[in-house]
Amino acid sequence: MTTRMRPRSRAVPTALLLPLVCLIALGGAACSPSPDAISGRSGAKVLLIGIDGVRPDVLAEVSTPVMDSLAAGGWYTAEARTTTPSVSGPSWSSMLTGVWPAKHGVVDNSFEGRRYAEYPGFLTLVERERPDLSTFAALDWMPLASLDGGGPVLSGEIDTLVAVDGYELGWAEADSVVASRAAQHLASADADAAFVYLGNPDETSHRHASIGVEYRDAIALSDRHVGWLVDALRARSAYAEEDWLVLISTDHGRREDGGHGGDSPEEMTIFILASGPSTGGWPAAGSRPTHIVDVPATALHHLGVPPDPGAGLDGEPLARAGDGP
Ligand SMILES: [Zn+2]
Repeated sequence: MTTRMRPRSRAVPTALLLPLVCLIALGGAACSPSPDAISGRSGAKVLLIGIDGVRPDVLAEVSTPVMDSLAAGGWYTAEARTTTPSVSGPSWSSMLTGVWPAKHGVVDNSFEGRRYAEYPGFLTLVERERPDLSTFAALDWMPLASLDGGGPVLSGEIDTLVAVDGYELGWAEADSVVASRAAQHLASADADAAFVYLGNPDETSHRHASIGVEYRDAIALSDRHVGWLVDALRARSAYAEEDWLVLISTDHGRREDGGHGGDSPEEMTIFILASGPSTGGWPAAGSRPTHIVDVPATALHHLGVPPDPGAGLDGEPLARAGDGP
């Protein structure tokens, strides 16, 4: 695990980075929010939870009480579309930048050709437009945060970033560490825009080359992790005055053999779930086609952060009916 923080935050000693130790130590000074982070500001806030490789039709068959509850009181589509190819690198790049691969340049998991300098991730856009806002990201698929030479989509401009190597730690445990660290941050620290990535379902399906019981159990575990994060938001002392939008989505579906990358409906179809008071005024799901690039556009719209006009986002906020350009 590595933790990167900007200077105003305190670095976490390596000794505290072991998962269980850190869970226990989170109440200590090493993981406490910075002094300016206690009160929290009222107003619009966004948490985007990305779960890798979850097929919406399989999700519908798995017991996921947390996401079911959020969807019941919010907005949900099981008919959104991801990138071509339906591969993690390009798909996460689109979910985080709001533009298609033709712009961000990522066409596979090598991330070669990436143009994050021209098309930064939405948390980076938030930092540039509203540096007073606090941004956070936690993940266990390292390319999202660790690329050299051109940088990762989760850039060094993000205030606090927790990166755990899922391959090193094991994916179920890594997701648990990511979720627990994120929950700790979200419960008590200043937080305006956050992204939490969970990789276990995708890796489990690949490992077993199926969409069978192991994959379904992994999705159920992700639902519990979502519960930790939502509970953390509700535990915030200023939660009642805050206007949280929780977005949950995935980067691609998959075939029966667990693979993906093609353009079949099973691989290309993704879900988008949105929960929060603001979703009440949104157009109904299905009233227009929705795409993975709409997710960060929605986050930015909710925050009231217009991206630089030159940013050229391809996504459209879900709050809008889609009659724009
Ligand atoms: Zn993926």
